[in-house]
Amino acid sequence: MVKSYRPRTLEEALKIRSETRCIPYAGGTDLMVRYRRGAGLAAGFDQPVLFIGQLAELTQIYEKNGELTIGACVPYREIIHQRHTPEILRQACELIGAPAVQNLGTPGGNICNASPAGDTLPPLSVLDANLTLQSLSGERNVSILSFFTGPGKTILRDDELLTAIHFRLPHFTVEGYRKVGTRKANALSKVSFAAFMLKEKEMLADIRIALGAVAPTVVRSRELENRLIGQPLTDLAKLLPEILESYGKLILPITDQRSDANYRKTIALRLIENFVLKEES
Ligand SMILES: Cc1cc2nc3c(=O)[nH]c(=O)nc-3n(C[C@H](O)[C@H](O)[C@H](O)COP(=O)(O)OP(=O)(O)OC[C@H]3O[C@@H](n4cnc5c(N)ncnc54)[C@H](O)[C@@H]3O)c2cc1C
Repeated sequence: MVKSYRPRTLEEALKIRSETRCIPYAGGTDLMVRYRRGAGLAAGFDQPVLFIGQLAELTQIYEKNGELTIGACVPYREIIHQRHTPEILRQACELIGAPAVQNLGTPGGNICNASPAGDTLPPLSVLDANLTLQSLSGERNVSILSFFTGPGKTILRDDELLTAIHFRLPHFTVEGYRKVGTRKANALSKVSFAAFMLKEKEMLADIRIALGAVAPTVVRSRELENRLIGQPLTDLAKLLPEILESYGKLILPITDQRSDANYRKTIALRLIENFVLKEES
């Protein structure tokens, strides 16, 4: 029988986390798969479980002064229905699992699970999201890109919880989101893509591109984006071969049961190319 805790406040949860090093359990949609023991058997957790999905401090979503704050345990269903949710994040949430998973699953779980195929990671990366990590000794704010250190690996300490995700609401003229999977629902990504562009006075004033499921962690390169920023729109097609060659060095997919490396790389590069040459949306 596994020990479990159901705290009523964040402070209580952080105290339990620091004393027991238990497993935070938000929606459980990754954990119940990871610890499954077979049909009809209870999941085989090897450490105490800390239920956090009920905590009021982690389940608020609100806009203030142009910044959206999403509590780590806000289920996808609520993010989809929040009127301030940027379209690329809404589309990513709508394509996660199916309604049953969207009712339980949370962005905090998606981020902390740190799968290279986590579908919220590319949109949150181009939104320049910051994460609040809290422990009894205080809080730190880190950029989402610095949070991941490898597949399934993050900088989260075992006395911390991810409590919130924040980003400024974006102002771009072109946006793009694509999830390439085997089916429309309940399919993990073979490749995922999120991007923004700001076109002003026939120039590319800004661009942000992120890709998922094609490297150990989400791929985003400010250096390559900077090579495109400030260029006349008429020069983009000419610059693309060199830019794509450089992205090709960052896109290092694996072959697994969902797809093969060559297919993933080809699709990822084609998505970048199509987006950069896309007209205003
Ligand atoms: C049928 C099915 C379909 C799915 N389809 C998709 C899909 O299309 N795309 C996709 O990206 N994922 C998919 N998933 C995976 C999963 O639903 C998501 O990753 C979801 O976001 C996990 O959230 P959760 O709240 O359920 O996480 P949990 O299972 O509760 O936790 C996941 C991990 O994060 C840790 N954790 C959770 N919250 C916190 C926190 N606040 N602080 C610190 N650690 C925390 C947990 O300890 C655990 O290690 C699918 C899963 C299933 C079962």
